[in-house]
Amino acid sequence: MNEEPGSPVQELHHATRSWYGLPVEITVSTDHYHRVVVGGLPLPHFGLVNLIARWGLPPAEQLEQTWRHELGHVQTLPLILPHLLLLLWPRRRRGPRWLWWLVMLVAHQAAWELAAEGYVILSYRPEGDHLSSGKARPLYGLLWGGMAALAVGGTLWTLSSRATGEQRENGA
Ligand SMILES: [Zn+2]
Repeated sequence: MNEEPGSPVQELHHATRSWYGLPVEITVSTDHYHRVVVGGLPLPHFGLVNLIARWGLPPAEQLEQTWRHELGHVQTLPLILPHLLLLLWPRRRRGPRWLWWLVMLVAHQAAWELAAEGYVILSYRPEGDHLSSGKARPLYGLLWGGMAALAVGGTLWTLSSRATGEQRENGA
């Protein structure tokens, strides 16, 4: 991102507990390495959202907001699980099986990314408002818009498969 070439890699490590008691260990670094261990279980995942959301921020801000984002996933798990259950609720599913699963998983992940970013915003008050200032602003807005569209659009599409099934049953 915007660190000087050859500048030393900075790293942050946090060991904490989620509000419902799960131990969480998070390591993030300025070379985009991040490792999240929840209840002793490593959760490897793709850091694309952090890459886009932190673009153009100073390295120390990137690290601070990235570890909070990762913790945000764990903290919002109880909020986001009902969304997953709603999507997975047995119903007649729309389209080919692979497409249904793809849309469902993308919608769920997008909703969870929004929840994790919401946690960053609510838990962190940086000096000078780095969340929305400078170069980060257009990309950050675009990220929220894109994620919201995927979450709402994908959720509605997934849930609408029930209506399609009922129509078919009624011979419509
Ligand atoms: Zn995320």
